[in-house]
Amino acid sequence: MKKNTCAEIFSIGTELLLGEITDTNSTYLSQRLRDLGIFVYRKNTVGDNVNRLTQALKEALTRADIIILSGGLGPTDDDVTREAICEVFGETPKVDPELFKELEEKFTLRNRTMPISNTKQAWLIPSAKALKNPIGTAPGWFAQKGGKTIIALPGPPSEMTKMWSEQAEKLLPITNTSLYHITIHTSGIGESDLCEKIQAFTRLECPGIGTYARKTGVDIRIAAAAQSTDEAKQIAKPVVDEISKILAPWIYGYDNETLPSAIMKLCSENNLTFAAVESVTGGFLTEQISACPGISCCFKGGITACSTDTHALIGIDPTILDKNGQFSKETAKEMAKSAQKIFKTDFAVATTGIDETAIVAVAGLNGTVTSAVNWLGDREMIRNRVSRTALQLLFETIRETTQSRLQSQSGNSRDSN
Ligand code: ATP
Repeated sequence: MKKNTCAEIFSIGTELLLGEITDTNSTYLSQRLRDLGIFVYRKNTVGDNVNRLTQALKEALTRADIIILSGGLGPTDDDVTREAICEVFGETPKVDPELFKELEEKFTLRNRTMPISNTKQAWLIPSAKALKNPIGTAPGWFAQKGGKTIIALPGPPSEMTKMWSEQAEKLLPITNTSLYHITIHTSGIGESDLCEKIQAFTRLECPGIGTYARKTGVDIRIAAAAQSTDEAKQIAKPVVDEISKILAPWIYGYDNETLPSAIMKLCSENNLTFAAVESVTGGFLTEQISACPGISCCFKGGITACSTDTHALIGIDPTILDKNGQFSKETAKEMAKSAQKIFKTDFAVATTGIDETAIVAVAGLNGTVTSAVNWLGDREMIRNRVSRTALQLLFETIRETTQSRLQSQSGNSRDSN
């Protein structure tokens, strides 16, 4: 069986090593290679030093079929990508007359004389063809020798992505591998608990399974490789189905779905509406909800009410506040019920809290439920965690309501038969 095509990505630049810029180029390239069925086992960051880069390239060529570099194609002495490729392929660069002419024309168009140092941007070696750069001065290289491919792209992301997608990617050999991947999103379960539940699958070779703790909850990524995407999907399917069954109480969506989009889907399928009222999250929950395109079909609005007098304004009985305090379960419940009344919605979600504990409440069609969040962290973490818990409780409450509706409908239809 032919082995998988394997690539390594190189991000070149001392400013990357010093943490002065963030490496977004390699993220882009990883995603593109994944979609092409090319395996990336390693990424490298190397400064503007020709010896270190040459050494790193030599090592990478012992492991990978394709090497993709971004950066270091500028005209100055510390732009050394071309020099390092010449060294590993054992070739001497020459100025290519056509590239030189094109480069000169770019400067003329900008009413400038081309500095001598830019000449090296017109270099080419026998193994390389030039990749055009319509928006910058540095052409890229697509070099092939002894079964290995080295692609050099400019550092600026707009130049790099354009050159990659319009030229470099199309020159790559077609792989015999297609990848299929799906991400399952969960909320309300910790990563270790989740891993224990699905441990029968986590060590499989194909499909491969990875779990990732994110701000929104734990994601499970399932990926399979085969000769076609359909075949890869068939390999992944039984595992996706089984994991979906095991984790059903915590799953809110797949791939691009978010908690607000999952809530919107449930509401629009069942003709339901909701609203929000916030104290501790100060508008952040409403912002998260309203970031979901199309949500206004079911989300009627949000109120931020942070003090006892604004609580009175939204109709909360002062005796409840006096008896239980502003940051209590009872007050959270009253806040949710008030928002439900003000906005005339089926559901309403509320957040309140102080210091170490926050309470979220959801008023629904069958009463009001609450959940406590104990946090450690700064303001941003608090807003994130409380908003996520609020969305999760809202999602679960709406899901339970719609499921019990469905059950009673099927029960009714059985009765009438
Ligand atoms: P130039 O002709 O502009 O010198 P170059 O190919 O030599 O291009 P660099 O000098 O290495 O590229 O980088 C130019 C700029 O591109 C950097 O200052 C940075 O803003 C951006 N850049 C470079 N590499 C990356 C990367 N890996 N991720 C994100 N941005 C990057």
